[in-house]
Amino acid sequence: MFIIEYIQAPEYIECMELLKRTTTCGALRKDDSGKTVILNGWVHRKRDHGGIFFINLRDRYGLTQTVVDQDAPEELKAAAAELRNEYCIALEGTVRERPAGMVNPGMPTGEIEVLVRHLVILSRSEVLPFQVDEESKAGEDLRLTYRYLDLRSTGMQNRIRLRSEVSFAVREWMTAQGFYEIETPTFIKSTPEGARDYLVPSRLYPGKFYALPQSPQLYKQILMVAGFDKYFQIARCYRDEETRGDRQPEFTQIDIEMSFVGREDVLAMTEGLMGRVFRKTLGLELPARFRRLTWEEAQERYGSDKPDLRFDLTLRDFSPFAEAGEFQAFKDALRQGEQARQLAAERGVSIAGGAVKALTVPASLMPSPYSRKQIEELEAQAKIYRAKGLAWMKVGEGGGLEGGVSRFFAGQEGAIVSALDAGPGDLILLAADSRRAVANTALGAVRSKLGRDLKLTGPGPDGKSRFEFVWIVDFPMFEFNEEENRWEAAHHMFTWPQDQYHTTLESDPGSVKGDLYDLVLNGFELASGSIRIHDPELQKRVFRIVGFGPEEAERRFGFLTEAFKYGAPPHGGIAPGLDRLVMIMAGETSIKEVIAFPKNSFAASPMDDCPGEVDQRQLDELHLRVEGPAP
Ligand code: ASP
Repeated sequence: MFIIEYIQAPEYIECMELLKRTTTCGALRKDDSGKTVILNGWVHRKRDHGGIFFINLRDRYGLTQTVVDQDAPEELKAAAAELRNEYCIALEGTVRERPAGMVNPGMPTGEIEVLVRHLVILSRSEVLPFQVDEESKAGEDLRLTYRYLDLRSTGMQNRIRLRSEVSFAVREWMTAQGFYEIETPTFIKSTPEGARDYLVPSRLYPGKFYALPQSPQLYKQILMVAGFDKYFQIARCYRDEETRGDRQPEFTQIDIEMSFVGREDVLAMTEGLMGRVFRKTLGLELPARFRRLTWEEAQERYGSDKPDLRFDLTLRDFSPFAEAGEFQAFKDALRQGEQARQLAAERGVSIAGGAVKALTVPASLMPSPYSRKQIEELEAQAKIYRAKGLAWMKVGEGGGLEGGVSRFFAGQEGAIVSALDAGPGDLILLAADSRRAVANTALGAVRSKLGRDLKLTGPGPDGKSRFEFVWIVDFPMFEFNEEENRWEAAHHMFTWPQDQYHTTLESDPGSVKGDLYDLVLNGFELASGSIRIHDPELQKRVFRIVGFGPEEAERRFGFLTEAFKYGAPPHGGIAPGLDRLVMIMAGETSIKEVIAFPKNSFAASPMDDCPGEVDQRQLDELHLRVEGPAP
C-alpha cells in the first residue's frame, strides 16, 4: 500500500486499511449519522477549546468538522494537539449530528461532525508562507512560488474543476457532432499568427530550429486537404509576445476546422458548442443565436471591435453639429480628415476621414453628477488612445446645454439633446479626430472605463453573472502598419477575402473585407476564425500583399500551397480561447486564475525557476553559444 511509507504514528493504526478513506470531506450529511467513516485530507483549521479539539479537515470535495473530545485517549489528544494547518492526516470516527445551535447552514456538511477515534499524521507541514484560502493576500510571485499551496484554496480548486468540466463538455459535444480530435505537432516549421516564435534548436541539424506553434493553423488546414472534414483539438499555443497585460507565453485554444462550410455553418456550430458548455457546467441557457455586429457597426457604436454589451451606452455621430457649430478644434479635425480622405481617394485608396463622436452618460447611471476631476480622468483615458482631448457638456434641468463646450453650439441645443437621446442631468462626452478610427477608439475606451467605474457590468437582477456574446463580422482583411509602411493581415493571411473584393485586392487593400469573424464575450475577444483561402493562386496574391515575395512565400509556406494543388476543399474554422472562456465563466479578470501552473507577469515561473540556465554540454550538443552576460 502506497501510504505505508508516510506513516508517522503507527501506534494509532489497528490495520492498514484504516488509513484508506471511505468517504470524502464533502460528502457527509445528517442521514449518515451513526456511521463509522475514515477521512483523509489536510488540516484546514484547528481550534482548541480547552482540551476539545475541533479539526476542520479539507480535501478537494469540501470541508468536514471533526472533533477530538475531552474524554478521548491521551495519545489521541496528544496527536490532535500536535496538528498544525496543512498537516496531511487520516482519521477514523463516527458521524454525529451537531448539537442544536452548532449547525452551519453555510457549509454542505454543516449539519454533522465526526467524532474522532483514531488519528494518523501522514505528513507534517512546515510553517506556511501564506494561509491557504487567503491566497488573495499573498503577492503573485509568492502564490506562484508555492503554487501547490495556492492551488489548495477553494477558489483555485473550483476554477480548476470548472476548467476540467469545460474541457470535458467541449470534447463530449464536438465528438457527438462528428468531429475527430486530432493532435498536431508541437515541433513545427514556424506558423505566423503575428507574434514571435519560440524556437527549439535542433541537435541533429546544426543551425536549424523547430518553432513551437503559435496555433495549429496550417496543420488544421492541411487536415482538411487530407479529408478529415471536422477536426478539433484542445491545443496548446505558444507566442513570444511582450509581457504586457494578461498574456501568457503558452495558452490553450479549442481549435476547430470544418470543410465544405460557409461562415454561417461555423457560427452556428460555435453557438451550439457554447450553449452546451454553459448548460453543462454552469446550468445556464444561452440564446440559441448570438447577436451580430459588423466590424464597422462595432467601431461606430461602441468604439471597439470587442464591445462589452452588458451595458448599452452607444457612441453617436456628432459631426453635423460640429460642422454647424463654432468649436474650432472640432471643425479643424473634420477639415483635416476630409483633406486626407480626398488625397487618398486621388490615389485610389479609400480611407474614412475625420469624425466627432458623442457619448451620452444618463444621469440615472451616475450616483452623483460627474465632477471636473472625474471628467479629467476620463480624458486621460481618451488620451491613452491618441485623442487630443475629451470635450463635454451637461444637460441642464430645463433641457438646455450647459458647461464645457456648450456655448459653441448655441441655437442647436434642442436638436443635439434629441439626437443624443439626452435628458436633464445627463453628461455628454465628445471626442474628435481627423482619423475617424481614433475618435471612435478613444471614446470607446472612455465607454469601457465608464462601464467599470459605474459598475455597469455587475450581475443581473437575478444576482447571476451576465454573459453577453456578440459576433463581430466583416472585418477589414488588411491593416496598414504605419511603422513598417506595409499592409499586414488583420487576422491571418489564410483568410478568404470576400468575393466582391477579389478584383481590387492589390489596388485597394484597405477597403477589402475578409470572410472573418470574432466571437466577443463581455468585452473580451473569445474566438477568432475565418473562411480560408483554398485556391493556391489567391493565396499567393495575399502573400504578396502582406509582403512575402514569391521566394519567401515558397520557402515558408510552399508546403501549404503545394497541398492546395491536390483538390483542397473549401474550409473554415475558429479557435475559442479556453483560458479566456473559463476565466470569464469563473468571473475572473486574469487567465492566471484558471491555469494550474501559469508564468508570472514576466514570463517566468518562480516555482521551478524557469527559464533557467543549462549546462555547457547541452549548449555544445545544440551547437549554441551564449553571448553577453548572464542576467
Ligand atoms: N489560428 C487562429 C488564431 O489562433 C484561429 C483560427 O483562425 O482558427 O487566432
